[in-house]
Parts: sequence; structure tokens; C-alpha cells
Amino acid sequence: MSNSSLITATYKAHSNNYSTGRSGRKIEKVTIHHMAGVLTAKQCGSIFQDGNRQASSNYGIGRDGEIALFVDEANTSYADANWDSNCKSVTIECSNNKTGGDWTVSDKVLNSLIKLIADIFKRNGIKTAIKGETITWHSMYSATACPGNYLRSKIDYIVQEVNKKLGSTSNTENKNETEKEHKIDEDGLWGEDTTIKAQEVFKTTVDGMVTDQRKEYKAKNPGLVSFEWKSNPTGYSELIKAIQKKVGANVDGWIGTETIKKMQKYFGTVQDGCISNPSDVVRAFQKWLNKQ
Ligand SMILES: [Zn+2]
Repeated sequence: MSNSSLITATYKAHSNNYSTGRSGRKIEKVTIHHMAGVLTAKQCGSIFQDGNRQASSNYGIGRDGEIALFVDEANTSYADANWDSNCKSVTIECSNNKTGGDWTVSDKVLNSLIKLIADIFKRNGIKTAIKGETITWHSMYSATACPGNYLRSKIDYIVQEVNKKLGSTSNTENKNETEKEHKIDEDGLWGEDTTIKAQEVFKTTVDGMVTDQRKEYKAKNPGLVSFEWKSNPTGYSELIKAIQKKVGANVDGWIGTETIKKMQKYFGTVQDGCISNPSDVVRAFQKWLNKQ
């Protein structure tokens, strides 16, 4: 088992302050802590060199963002006040940049934390950052204010940035979860994202395209961006058919004045039969899609 090559120093914790090995458990996650003080990595490390302390962490990130090793990843630190969690976690102490209040940390510290977590995940075969599962924090395991309001508010951001560093393949595992929560911009413009969301909601093929639409409606409807316009389309769009059924329009799979008016009626906007850029009816449609 290796340690991170991102470290700039090692301050080995006193042997009273950690256990050798991990009691047969595997590294499954990281646990985030704050130092409850503005400290360098060295100052934090020296605290854990006191044999009476009965506390340690695997890594510390000092106030300038420097990363130091205190306890080898192969060993169990005493950080989470929870034995099982200590055995499964690589624990990280982060310096604050101010004491008290929300216990903020600097962007340098936050960036070092994200880099370090991504590195730990890569070397230990953890494929995805998941809030509360692979990325955990001290107060999940014991009654403590650690790691403070600020770091707790940044967990979603940390998860997102770590996943970016792990690369796109690691995100595919999350895809089903994110699809459920797929929210689109309510900007009144019917682009690819609106089409994808509508295809998800109406359960038609999800390809982000409204295919085989009649070209004579293109110029009048500048708000229809992800539409494929053809002079004499032989095919039609399944999605448009589904929408026509929903709003009570003639079901032919082609958008046109009649379908747009029926959509405007259904979604309660002005019935002029045109989709402008941006468009009130598209905005209302997007709002409705986000609620489904
Ligand atoms: Zn803590």
C-alpha cells in the first residue's frame, strides 16, 4: 500500500496514536476533518507526535495548502472516534484560515484537499466520489462540530471536483442517479438539453434531436433550436407525437402552428402559434418538465 506523492513532508505520528494495519478492512473512503485552528502541516503533525494525545490522522493539509503525511495509509489513524470508520478511512485534517464561526478554509487548502482525495481514490481503486459514502466527514461518526459549517457546505463541490479528476468513466456509474435529478435551464429556448429532458419524461428514444420536422416552420419558430428541418420529411418525431397526445393536438409527429397553439393553451401562455427566442411556452414547458 502506497502513500500520496503529493506530500511535501512527513511528520510521523507517535506509535501510541495509531494502530498498525487496518484490522482486515480495506480503504473504502476518506474522512474530512478540520484542525479547529490556523496551523501549518508541521504544527498539526507535532500535536500527533505527543504520545499522550491518542489522536492522529493519515494526512494533514497546512494553512498554505501544503500536504504532509502523519500516518501511513496502510495503518489506522485515530481520527473519527469510530473504530470501524478509522479502519476504512484515509483521514485528512485541514487547516482553517480563521478560527470560530463557520470555520472557513482557504481555497488553497480546499484545492489541495480535492487533489489529495482524487489521488487516494486512484491508488486505492475507489472509482467514484459519493457524498456520505466514499467522501465522509467527522460529524457523521461522532458528536462533533468537525469539520465545521464551511467544509460541510463544500461537500457537494468536493464530490463534483474529485469526480472530474477521476475522469468521465467514473461518472457513468452515477448516471442513473443523476438522470433522475436531471434539471434543465428554464431559459425559453428549446435546445438539445430540453429535448433530452422531454425524451426522458415522455419515454421516447433519448438522442437530443427532434427529427424530420417540416422546414416551412423553421423561420417562424427561432426558439426551436435542436430541431432537424427537412423539405419533405417522410419520417416524424416520436417526441412530438407524445407531446401532441398530451396537449390534445392532432397527432402527426410534426410541429406546426396548430400543435404550438395547443401547447400554448395547455401551458397557459399567449396562443399565437409561434415559438420565439426566448419563448414563454418553452419556458413553461421546461418548468413543467423539471417537475416530472
Ligand atoms: Zn475531526
